[in-house]
Amino acid sequence: MDRRNFIKSVPLAAMAIKLSDFGEQYNEKILPLGDDVSGELMPALFVGHGNPMNAIEENEFSKEWEVIGKSLPTPKAILCVSAHWQTHGTKVCAVEQPETIHDFGGFPQELFDVQYAAKGSPDFAKQTQQAITKTNATLDYEWGLDHGCWSVLRKMYPAAQIPTFQLSLDYDAKPQEHYDVAQQLKEFRSKGILIIGSGNIVHNLGRMQWKDEAYDWAIEFDEKIKSLIEKGDHQSVINYKNLGRAAELSIPTNEHYLPLLYTLGVQDKKDSLSFFNEKATMGSISMRGVKFS
Ligand code: ZN
Repeated sequence: MDRRNFIKSVPLAAMAIKLSDFGEQYNEKILPLGDDVSGELMPALFVGHGNPMNAIEENEFSKEWEVIGKSLPTPKAILCVSAHWQTHGTKVCAVEQPETIHDFGGFPQELFDVQYAAKGSPDFAKQTQQAITKTNATLDYEWGLDHGCWSVLRKMYPAAQIPTFQLSLDYDAKPQEHYDVAQQLKEFRSKGILIIGSGNIVHNLGRMQWKDEAYDWAIEFDEKIKSLIEKGDHQSVINYKNLGRAAELSIPTNEHYLPLLYTLGVQDKKDSLSFFNEKATMGSISMRGVKFS
C-alpha cells in the first residue's frame, strides 16, 4: 500500500481498538517462579504484535516471527492470550473451527481478506478451563482468533497446521489475579502446548507517531521491564503502577500489557530467557518479545 493511505488508516484503526481501564490494587507478597514441572517443556512466548499490517508485511518484526516459528519444537496446540479479547470473567474458546476475526478498521482490503484457518482445540480448551480454579473460567463458543493472535501466527505458522485456541482477559481482574491464573496454566507446557501472550509492553495509541523512533519514556520503560524480567522480579512487573511516569505513559490502558503476565506466570526455574524484536518504534509502541525455553 502507499504510504499516504497507510497514514490515513491510523486514526480509524486506533478508534476501532477497544480500550479499557482496569482497577488495580497491589499485593506485595513475593512470588516464586513456580514449581518445577517434570519432563520437557514447550517454550513460552510473549510477542509484541504492534500494527496489524505486520500480518501481511515482510518487515524486521514479522521476519523474526517467521524465524522463531521455525526454531520451536512442533506444539500439539497453541494457547494464545491476546490483548484483543476482553470479557467479564475468564473465557476459554472451545470452538472446533475458530473464525478469523478482523477486529480493526481503516486498513487495506488485503488485510481483511486474510483467513487463518487453524482448527480449534476443544479438548485442550476444556482442560484449560478445568485447570483454572483461581477464578471462575467458562467455555466460550462465540469467539475465534482475533488479530492479536492470527497476525503473529500467520508468520510463525503460515500453514495454520497447529490447533489454536484463545483465553480471554477478564476486564474485572487485577494484574495479580491475571498472573495467578497464568501460573495454573504452566502444566500445559509439559503437555506440548505453546503458550503465547500477545500484546505490547509499551502501547500508547494516543501518542503514536508514524516514524521509526520512540520517545525516551517508551525506551526507558521497555528497558526497565526487560531488566525486571532478567532479574526474575515478576512482582515489580505486576505492580507496574509503582514504576513512575514512564509506566503511566507506556500503559494508559493495560490490555496490551497484561498478556506479558501470562507468559511470566508460566516461567519455569529451569528456563533460559531470551528477547527478540527488542525495539520501540512509532513513538509509543514496544515490539519486544520474550522467550522462555
Ligand atoms: Zn493490539
